Amino acid sequence: MHDVVILGGGSGGYACALRASQLGLSVVLIEQDKLGGTCLHRGCIPTKALLHAAEVADVAREGESVGVHSTFNGIDMTKVNSYKDGVIGRLYKGLQGLVKSRDITYVEGTGRLVAANAVEVNGQRYEGKNIVLATGSYARSLPGLEITGRIMTSDEALVMDYVPESAIILGGGVIGVEFASVWRSFGVDVTVIEGLPRLVPAEDEAVSKAMERAYRKRGINFSTGIKFQSATQDNNGVSIILEDGKEFRADVLLVAIGRGPRTSNLGYEEVGVAMDRGFVLANERLATNVPGVYAVGDIVPGLQLAHRGFQQGIFVAEEIAGLSPQSIDETGIPRVTYSEPEIASIGYTETAAKEKFGDIVSYEYNLGGNGKSQILGTTGFIKLIQQKDGPVVGVHMIGARVGELIGEAQLIYNWEATADDVAPLVHAHPTQNEALGEAFLALAGKPLHAHA
Ligand SMILES: Cc1cc2nc3c(=O)[nH]c(=O)nc-3n(C[C@H](O)[C@H](O)[C@H](O)COP(=O)(O)OP(=O)(O)OC[C@H]3O[C@@H](n4cnc5c(N)ncnc54)[C@H](O)[C@@H]3O)c2cc1C
Repeated sequence: MHDVVILGGGSGGYACALRASQLGLSVVLIEQDKLGGTCLHRGCIPTKALLHAAEVADVAREGESVGVHSTFNGIDMTKVNSYKDGVIGRLYKGLQGLVKSRDITYVEGTGRLVAANAVEVNGQRYEGKNIVLATGSYARSLPGLEITGRIMTSDEALVMDYVPESAIILGGGVIGVEFASVWRSFGVDVTVIEGLPRLVPAEDEAVSKAMERAYRKRGINFSTGIKFQSATQDNNGVSIILEDGKEFRADVLLVAIGRGPRTSNLGYEEVGVAMDRGFVLANERLATNVPGVYAVGDIVPGLQLAHRGFQQGIFVAEEIAGLSPQSIDETGIPRVTYSEPEIASIGYTETAAKEKFGDIVSYEYNLGGNGKSQILGTTGFIKLIQQKDGPVVGVHMIGARVGELIGEAQLIYNWEATADDVAPLVHAHPTQNEALGEAFLALAGKPLHAHA
């Protein structure tokens, strides 16, 4: 009997395997497809490679504005894809090497939970004192919206070998706006359809507003607040109709309405694991109701992010090893949307903070006063939310490259710092990071490059 049997080798599963083996536990890691899962092969990494190619296209297009002769002559998708696949391939090789270098029994095949302490793969039974479920997620669609031909999810969109002339994106969340950003930079006529009242609806309202302004300026069309009704496709394109009867037409339709847990027919219910709409219910120690069975990653309700999966995987390994790790504060997990402009946030939105803490103070520092942002030609802001006479409970940022500022923001949130704690810390000039420092100076009542 092994110490830990892990079902699924994505962000959550492999992180758990690596940490468990580091702690001297005997580990079995079962993966039916490619080690690394969604994030490495169909998620974070390929999308960010495309976003980088998109940024290079924008730089080429905009060179003249800073006196550099350059022109944008188009996109060669074959080359873009080989660049993207090169990045994935190198990371994949590295990860395989890492797992091989540890004392981990790696099993290829589709596993099924057959008992509270056993997973079966290709007729072979692997028993563990502990089982970790980490089977991840899949791109959801809507009833009647079949993923075929011109109607695709991110899985298909990531391997397209051409740039469409026009695209409709159903869903204005993270994945939807990232693809909108890439395709617009590639020259596509893009329309985003979001049923909720605003783009990036999970973000602070001020951020959504700024995002909508920026997208309008970039020529990205969007419709918000009206739900999708139906879609049809023919040889020439896709038509979609919204509930108010409005019709949109484009070459392709990307369905980006969220991701469902990959948990059906895996034996979870039969073994008695408590579930809700397909998600596996786990407590704050990531334990399910079945003793010895844990769950990590996208199958556990909450933010579906790779770094959450990593942290949960590490947590469970340490829990099993008896280290009693500190439980993970979901609100303290950084969130980044890598579009142009980028969005980065941590903690509570203004609305949520008011609800939770009552009295709060908020401050918005405009990137217009930040030297490096002026150099880059980006606009946006940093919004801080502080509990009155208490710690900072939210940081919300929008603008080019602000994703890189989330590291400091997350320390501030997670260390429960106040504006007075942060204001004396020196930020290098001229960096965008400085904008965060300026925002804290202002919140502490001593603004430098900002009006009081
Ligand atoms: C387009 C896109 C962009 C994204 N961008 C980001 C980003 O920028 N940053 C970020 O943090 N997150 C991003 N994500 C989310 C991130 O990819 C996921 O949160 C993360 O991959 C979840 O990890 P996981 O281990 O729970 O699941 P997965 O990565 O899905 O891994 C689950 C693994 O389990 C395997 N498996 C499933 N069932 C079985 C079985 N029965 N037997 C054996 N193996 C099985 C699967 O093959 C898979 O490899 C993105 C996702 C998408 C789709």
